[in-house]
Amino acid sequence: MSQVAPPVWRQILRQNFVDIGKLADFLELTPQQREQLVARSRFALNLPRRLASKIAKGTLDDPILKQFIPTSAENVSAAGFLNDPVGDSPCRKANKLLHKYQGRMLLVATSACAMHCRYCFRQHFDYEVVDKTFENELQLIASDPTINEVILSGGDPLSLDDRHLESLLRQIASIPHVRKVRFHTRYPVGIPERLDAAFRAMLSSIPLQFWFVIHANHPRELDSEVLAALKSIQCLGIPVLNQWVLLRGVNDDIDVLTELCQLIIDHGILPYYLHQLDRVQGAAHFEVSEERGQALVEALASRLPGYAVPRYVKEIPGMSSKTLIV
Ligand code: SF4
Repeated sequence: MSQVAPPVWRQILRQNFVDIGKLADFLELTPQQREQLVARSRFALNLPRRLASKIAKGTLDDPILKQFIPTSAENVSAAGFLNDPVGDSPCRKANKLLHKYQGRMLLVATSACAMHCRYCFRQHFDYEVVDKTFENELQLIASDPTINEVILSGGDPLSLDDRHLESLLRQIASIPHVRKVRFHTRYPVGIPERLDAAFRAMLSSIPLQFWFVIHANHPRELDSEVLAALKSIQCLGIPVLNQWVLLRGVNDDIDVLTELCQLIIDHGILPYYLHQLDRVQGAAHFEVSEERGQALVEALASRLPGYAVPRYVKEIPGMSSKTLIV
């Protein structure tokens, strides 16, 4: 029997850097720089080639690299940094279903991602998503008529192949009170090939309003191919928003934030949330104080039109929505 070749995006995914020695060679790091890296991290290195190719050689001080490289800074334990900083656990209604906010539920579609971000608040999440069925979860959504939106998150929902994704989306579409599905995805910035013609045709065939919320922290993540892929999604009538995290040494700089906001609005992408770092264990070195964050957002507001300025928010467990930092 002849084997069907995997889609291009999956072939690209398989080329990700997962070996820190190979990445260090690629980046031409010195022996002293290599000493700061952690070879076997619990949250493994996972970095698409596209992003790796944007990193400056011979330095650890690069805003893209810092987001993805495991360093000894992760082993410093800091007070107040937890495994579950956003209170996912008490909101878990089934293995793969979280209900935090009124009107919407979040489906943990998969544990897999296109990349591993060192500050990810779900890096310690106890995923039980080995099977790709969502029977219990869909039953719970169907039994609650107050739910009008399903958020597909993870992991990254675009790690599911089109066949599984289509099956899931059609089941969601058959629930009369659900009208919207929101994708939370970082695939477009790492592997924009994921938004291929087959994927777009599949979305177009399903009677739901889709929303795309991407996650780009630095303007260098958004090259012309990434923006073209996002345009192909926008052309389907799907709004694209960006939410990102304020990260020390990555984007805590007014010129970087201004460039990012300008770039996205120039391409019809709305700035949604600028998140204060969720205080997840191992990520203390990324934290920027709220006072500094506020000053940066105020400076942004003085440079840009109101629609180009994201809402600066933090997540406080147990609250009925994100909390604005003003
Ligand atoms: S869930 Fe999102 S933030 Fe977390 S590792 Fe995956 S892509 Fe990064």
